[in-house]
Amino acid sequence: MKKKAKDKSHRHPKDDLLRTSRIPHIWCPGCGIGSAVSAAISTLQKLELDYDKTVVVSGIGCTGRVAGYLNLDSFHTTHGRAIPFATGLKLANPQLKVFVFSGDGDLFSIGGNHFIHAARRNIDLTVICVNNMNYGMTGGQVSANTPTGAKTTTTPFGNTETPFNLPSIAAICGAVYVARWLSLEVRRLAQSFYEAMTKPGFSFVEVIAPCPTTFGRRNRLGSPLEMIKLYQKNSVIRNGVHTDETVIQEGKKLVLGKFIDTQRPTFLEGLSKAKQLKGTMWPKKELAE
Ligand code: SF4
Repeated sequence: MKKKAKDKSHRHPKDDLLRTSRIPHIWCPGCGIGSAVSAAISTLQKLELDYDKTVVVSGIGCTGRVAGYLNLDSFHTTHGRAIPFATGLKLANPQLKVFVFSGDGDLFSIGGNHFIHAARRNIDLTVICVNNMNYGMTGGQVSANTPTGAKTTTTPFGNTETPFNLPSIAAICGAVYVARWLSLEVRRLAQSFYEAMTKPGFSFVEVIAPCPTTFGRRNRLGSPLEMIKLYQKNSVIRNGVHTDETVIQEGKKLVLGKFIDTQRPTFLEGLSKAKQLKGTMWPKKELAE
């Protein structure tokens, strides 16, 4: 029997950047990770990058699966170690466009030390962190980003700790681009990813995303739609605000926006000028007041 030509009309415009053979994905209905991935694909398409020179690196966890679903050179690394892998790739081949896509548990609860040093060095990387405020994949345990008072499997009476203020950490450590958006706002997210990826140096975008299955269920935040509507209702856009204001706490609106957009020499630029630095170490010379 004559074989029919393969009908490609059913393909989605974003399919080229997805490993469709891996679909269906593992994410729960209503999870915010999918919207963040969709925004990232829009950005990659707009950037018109050479995909043979574009690399995505993820750690472990629900968001850690992103590397496996994007049709790029992908590295699904060990827990908390996405940033050192990405750093190695960038230093070995500075021509590559390298970005990290991982979760808050992976990047900050386990890999926090790598984050602060990559930002301090101003390595040419974009880090996208999906913050769902708990360890979703392993059953909803407390993370370094769980809000005070929130219930998780390991804090059944409410979390007594203070969560990290991620934009503040990024800013203090020297990131040149820092922003935070809701996963709901895919256009703003895509624009922010674009700005981050075209910025030389270390850029950081936090994506606040609902995890209805573990975090939402334990805290009775309703259906996935109700949950993201609640996040939207309790958030406010304040571009350019000091990152002291971006703390997540009870009784305070979640502050969204672009907080830092600056420039300073990147790690690789610094290396290329290393010889010129000889003899200029602080405080070798007495400085005028
Ligand atoms: Fe998303 Fe939570 Fe399900 Fe993980 S457990 S896929 S974060 S909804």
